[in-house]
Amino acid sequence: MTGNQPTPQLAALYQELILDHYKRPRRQGQIEDPDVDIHMMNTSCGDEVRLQLRVVDDVVRDARFQGTGCSISQASLSMMADLLVGKTRADALALTRRFKEMMHGDTDAARDRRLGDLRALAGVAAYPVRVKCAMLGWNALEEGLRKLAEEKGV
Ligand code: ZN
Repeated sequence: MTGNQPTPQLAALYQELILDHYKRPRRQGQIEDPDVDIHMMNTSCGDEVRLQLRVVDDVVRDARFQGTGCSISQASLSMMADLLVGKTRADALALTRRFKEMMHGDTDAARDRRLGDLRALAGVAAYPVRVKCAMLGWNALEEGLRKLAEEKGV
């Protein structure tokens, strides 16, 4: 990893957070008649996600996912879905950019409180193959919001 290494204590806490989200995913499930419904795969690892959003008045009111795959991909999804609720589309896209910056080794992004539990994934930046795992949910989010804008013409 480039830049500041987390202390061993922080690294252990981060590892615990990742496993916790993996074992007890937040916001797993489905939304009836969702505004965003997107399926995406990360073929390099075999991770898979179906992400659904309820978007009302430009705000994400609900986010649910069904996923299979490695702990990094599923923990990232769980953390992302949890963070998205209550955010505007612009906020959601800003978070996506910030998360990508962190995945490119940006140490400011890795300390950005707006990313919440997702900061636990900062160490993944050192492993390009795993970056694809961590990015799966975010790529689905971006694509889903792009399609929504297309459909609604906004
Ligand atoms: Zn994976």
